[in-house]
Amino acid sequence: MPRARCSDELSAIHSTATRKDDRPSSPISIMDSDEYRKRGKEMVDYIADYLETIRERRVFPDVNPGYMRHLVPDSAPESPEPWENIFNDIERVVMPGMTHWQSPYMHAYFPALNSYPSLLGDMLADAINCIGFTWASSPACTELETVVMDWLGKMVGLPEHFLHSSKDSPGGGVIQTTASEATFVCLLAARTEAIQRYQKEYPDLEDAEINSRLVAYCSDQAHSSVEKAGLIGLVKMRYIESDENLSMRGDKVVEAIQNDREKGLIPFFLCATLGTTGSCSFDNLKELGPICEQEELWMHVDAAYAGTAFICPEFRHFMDGIDYAHSLAFNPSKWMMVHFDCTAMWVKNSGSLHRTFNVDPIYLQHENTGLAIDYMHWQIGLSKRFRALKLWFVIRSFGIIGLQKHIREGVRMAQKFEAFVKSDPRFEITAPRHLGMVVFRLKGENELTEKLLKKLNSTGKLHCVPACLKGKYVIRFTVTSTHTTVDDLSRDWATIRTVASEVLSKTPAEEHKARVFLKDTRKNPDFGTSLLLANSPMSPKIVNGSFAAIFDNSDVLFEFAKKLQQLKLDVQDSPGKAMRRRIKGMLMAGKQYSLDSRMDLVTTFVQSARPGENMPTMRENSVEGQDFHDTAVQTENGHSPSRIRSKSVDEYIDTPDLKNLHLDEAIDEGEGETSSPEAETNQRSRAMNGKMNYHLCDNCGSAITAQ
Ligand code: PLP
Repeated sequence: MPRARCSDELSAIHSTATRKDDRPSSPISIMDSDEYRKRGKEMVDYIADYLETIRERRVFPDVNPGYMRHLVPDSAPESPEPWENIFNDIERVVMPGMTHWQSPYMHAYFPALNSYPSLLGDMLADAINCIGFTWASSPACTELETVVMDWLGKMVGLPEHFLHSSKDSPGGGVIQTTASEATFVCLLAARTEAIQRYQKEYPDLEDAEINSRLVAYCSDQAHSSVEKAGLIGLVKMRYIESDENLSMRGDKVVEAIQNDREKGLIPFFLCATLGTTGSCSFDNLKELGPICEQEELWMHVDAAYAGTAFICPEFRHFMDGIDYAHSLAFNPSKWMMVHFDCTAMWVKNSGSLHRTFNVDPIYLQHENTGLAIDYMHWQIGLSKRFRALKLWFVIRSFGIIGLQKHIREGVRMAQKFEAFVKSDPRFEITAPRHLGMVVFRLKGENELTEKLLKKLNSTGKLHCVPACLKGKYVIRFTVTSTHTTVDDLSRDWATIRTVASEVLSKTPAEEHKARVFLKDTRKNPDFGTSLLLANSPMSPKIVNGSFAAIFDNSDVLFEFAKKLQQLKLDVQDSPGKAMRRRIKGMLMAGKQYSLDSRMDLVTTFVQSARPGENMPTMRENSVEGQDFHDTAVQTENGHSPSRIRSKSVDEYIDTPDLKNLHLDEAIDEGEGETSSPEAETNQRSRAMNGKMNYHLCDNCGSAITAQ
């Protein structure tokens, strides 16, 4: 029981706090344990009410970027605020801007489910707040993690060598923050192994020399986090074309490996996906595994979403060949109702992680160093949260049977939805349904489905994101929430059908009227325009639908280049002037805007431009070693060619022709300056002070990027 405090004691606390902060005396609200009990119970009630009534809320918020600025003060409060005021702001400030991921109408990305036992687990973990980097820093934190990782490994049918309890293997499991991090950690471990192997053969080679020749492989359907791992690991990533079932197959991998070896590159890592983001397709581990073994490639398996399904034996055939894997990760934080963050990762040989991450300062050594697991050697960060608690609570509360029931129910819901789609001849299912995800589209042009999706999302009644599968724009519909009932699905399907009828009946002229006008994008000068623009059709944006609606930049750039070829950005007399001003405004602001905005601008601009005029052309860059990410822009207007990387759309927008817009248009666009020469100079210098690195073209005086 907490010790009760008399009023003198409380006022002493208050006055100490006042002195510490050097503030004039004012009533100070310090939450003591009594108040914490009271407020904690209120919060638990609020959470239970929130989850119970979640279907009454609009799943996708109806707010514009910057909405919150108007609801909160500019600076932090000088004096403590009463808890009531803070608590009331949850509904006033936060909830209006929430996308409700637990809503039964949330079908976007992959699910991020929670459950009461999971929430309780983190409540306790947060209170204990141990930082479990070594066994000694919190033995229970480390030991419970090894126990639940073994439990989970057995629950999904992993081979024995992935378990801590296996006597014959140095394998085991660890909880990482995200699947992205797990892929990166494994890629780094594979890189260490490859470098050490090559150095044995070629002792004179430096690490960096070997690193520069390393090449990794994944499918063209792999999640963008695999690309990111390659980027930050400084290794080349080769994207293998998937087959008609969107699966990565052995023959294409063998071909790529042979080509790379002929070029003197060193294949070292392959990331196979079980349950791809775009369509929940499965790479063929049975074919890929033996190839990796023979070619000495580390095979990592990314089963971020689908991994949970392997708790049910009937879905384990998808991981046939898992014996060959060096590592595997999946997210209990997606489908398993263990709320974010929680990524389960296993390795066959933890020695590879040790060799990669081992640092051993004296302040982290303890009496049992070497006798117990120190998870700091298994991850990038030093510290780790006590995430095993919530995993333990969930596994025990549901039991294997309860979790299996939950998974099967999710799959059953997806089958229901699939049947709805199949019943309407205006729609097609673009790829076979696997587990809890259905990908569908309106038959016909991509633009129809794109419009359908935008309109659906703007109703706020349900929320989905797109994917691009072999050039087809599709809507991904995931149905694995515990809150979703067949009635909910019927309601969603009715909404989809109604909106589809609207889309199919609208004439192009009517459609045009629905577009967002420039003035509406300027409601808040501090923010970009991506949300608004995202509600207007914007082909050819290519979306590789994912947890974060990831874009395939190279495709975007290719489309962008094609469009640029079709037009000349002649500012003086071509239509679409407002759009050009916006492009320029964005460039001048030196801010990072989303790709959404930019592609929308380009599309709209292209639609309004005159065809047939010369524009810069883009060609593949074949410079040895750079052909993975690089492209170059050649211009025909006298400015020097501007080199770009496909990773940076900013740089693409920076092509001379886009920059070569006359600055007076931005100036007269309501920034309070006239188009005088001084104003123009001001604008230029503002541009130059930003990150744009402008200089003036000798021929026409326009601002262009310094080469
Ligand atoms: N891999 C796949 C297949 C995914 O679908 C996702 C996200 O949805 C990720 C990786 C990235 O997951 P995380 O957000 O945990 O990094």
